[in-house]
Amino acid sequence: MTDQLRRTDAPGRARGQARPVTGPVVCAPMHVERLVTRAADAGVVHTGMGPDRSIRAAARLRGAAGVLVVGVAGGLDPIVRPGDVVVASEVRGPDGDAIPSPSAPMLAGELRRLGLTVHVGPIESRPRIVTGAARKKLAAGGALAVDTESYWLAQAGKPFAVVRSIVDTAAAPLIRPAALARGARALRMLRAAVPAIDAWTSAVRDRSVVLANPRSFCAGVERAIDIVDRALDRFGAPVYVRRQIVHNAHVVTELEQRGAVFVTEVDEVPPGSVLVLAAHGVAPAVRAEAQARRLTVIDATCPLVAKVHTEVRRYASRDETVILIGHADHEEVEGTVGEAPEHVIVVGDVAEAARVTPRDATRVAYAMQTTLAVDEADEIADVLRDRFPSLRGPGSDDICYATTNRQQAVRAIAADCDLMLVVGSPNSSNSLRLVEVAEREGVPARLVDDAGKVDLRLLAGAVRIGVTAGASAPPHLVDELVTTLGGLGSLAVREPSAPPENFHFTLPKEVS
Ligand code: SF4
Repeated sequence: MTDQLRRTDAPGRARGQARPVTGPVVCAPMHVERLVTRAADAGVVHTGMGPDRSIRAAARLRGAAGVLVVGVAGGLDPIVRPGDVVVASEVRGPDGDAIPSPSAPMLAGELRRLGLTVHVGPIESRPRIVTGAARKKLAAGGALAVDTESYWLAQAGKPFAVVRSIVDTAAAPLIRPAALARGARALRMLRAAVPAIDAWTSAVRDRSVVLANPRSFCAGVERAIDIVDRALDRFGAPVYVRRQIVHNAHVVTELEQRGAVFVTEVDEVPPGSVLVLAAHGVAPAVRAEAQARRLTVIDATCPLVAKVHTEVRRYASRDETVILIGHADHEEVEGTVGEAPEHVIVVGDVAEAARVTPRDATRVAYAMQTTLAVDEADEIADVLRDRFPSLRGPGSDDICYATTNRQQAVRAIAADCDLMLVVGSPNSSNSLRLVEVAEREGVPARLVDDAGKVDLRLLAGAVRIGVTAGASAPPHLVDELVTTLGGLGSLAVREPSAPPENFHFTLPKEVS
């Protein structure tokens, strides 16, 4: 019987008879591992080393609302070094069986935010410490670490997770004198991991997820990514892209891996190269500079952004002042202003709209950034209409269909959510607007680049979670987020129906 199990004995119970386990438990196979993690909120159970003790402990703990194994382990993959932390994506048993741990990305994110070096991947469990040639053989299977308990402790219950701090590797085996210092370091890392352990146990529960529909990629983003892909196929790497092709860190990384090179300005591109202009559009001066450098330019500007450029040029050609409703520091707005800088004034909110002073109050038009919050933009336009009765403009039509639909979808599910998770990067305007829309509906909302960025403590009180994604966020990130949430407890997933978005834009001739 472990210390922890003794503590849970109920008065009046037969001596030695443990109270059934209800909440999540933290399992530490060695006494010393329990000692360094004993501050964990859930209480830490010393389960004993090796498969036999682990099997007995799992039987005693069966029915736990969640099982988190903490301890030290041996590194298998050369990327894993002593003192690093491995979070199991799955635990493999000696017979080739694998028990998945889908919440690993969120747990790893918590550990990284604590400053630890974290790897996520398979952990092998073996009955005895593995050394020499046997260790090399295990490493060839792609596992990151090996231990002697996790697979058997996993039988205690679900959800299941493993945090192992690496004490030895093939290059730094246990028998060396430095092993003691490495062991001490690995235990320090385990102690440092306690806040993440607490965050995981606090987030374990059954939940429902409502998926906003529509969400994720729009036609303009799909087209822009397709353009870079095709340019790489047709012209070969490197293909240069001015600024992020779309505002999403994952998309940029994936294209970089294919050979795209992202630059801030055209003067970074070697003369004669292929340059793709991003979906947000550019000022004519950028095109002129690209031409001067003899670049092959492929324009990935979204046709709906190009439409706003055309409006601005038309108003400016009539010598009207164009009030552009938008965020002055956003790349789309920079590009649109560049069409007629001497005619365009940017206003970002109602207060700026109330004090903007055009050259001639009878010759004023307005346009909008395509990715604004529809209701906020309308409020600003109302102020302008009141001040300039002859004001011409597009209504909220400049705000594109994708932005409008994704905001409407968030409103439609807000009443069913305790928390809204918006998948998107911090520089994605339409993703940020989705956070604001949810908050205006009274739902706390967070922007997350991926599952690893979710704050587990935020999930502790959230039973009904809304999930959406900005127009630049890949759908697979939403799938991964939902899978990861499912690693914290059973998940009922619902997606309301919505009309399909039948928008398709033709490709530029250079890649069609
Ligand atoms: S969010 Fe709208 S404007 Fe931006 S790329 Fe997508 S469809 Fe085009």
